[in-house]
Amino acid sequence: MLHFAIHGIVIDVWLYGTHRLIHHPILYMWIHKFHHRFKAPTAVACVYANPLEFMIGNVGGVVLGPALTNCHPYSAAFWMAYAITSTSFSHSGYTVFGATSHDQHHEHFDFNFGVLITDAVLGTKFEGSARQKRILANAAAKRQDAKSV
Ligand SMILES: [Zn+2]
Ligand SMILES: [Zn+2]
Repeated sequence: MLHFAIHGIVIDVWLYGTHRLIHHPILYMWIHKFHHRFKAPTAVACVYANPLEFMIGNVGGVVLGPALTNCHPYSAAFWMAYAITSTSFSHSGYTVFGATSHDQHHEHFDFNFGVLITDAVLGTKFEGSARQKRILANAAAKRQDAKSV
């Protein structure tokens, strides 16, 4: 369980760093734009990425934790199965599978780069952001306008 927790922290930091890096305009254009063709992702979108992004950012993040902890091969296998299931769920579009955060990334672009706490720590979490508050206020104003017509 300790290894599993460490793997979670490692992938959160690794994904946040590599993902934020490929949102730089030059790298985005050449690498990450491919994955962002999905504005409303489906599960298969989790592997729909440029090969560099897929190997370094995605697979690299999954195998880095077991490589650092030198955990038992069964623990590594469980972690890898969990990771592919989790990323499929996060691209599924279903709130019940925890897809909300990554859906917000595909929709709003500048938020939710990581998978656990890095966005909250580094100020890129969409929930509670000024942009989310503005969007909710605009939606409420439109509803109010529709009622008064
Ligand atoms: Zn992205
Ligand atoms: Zn995605």
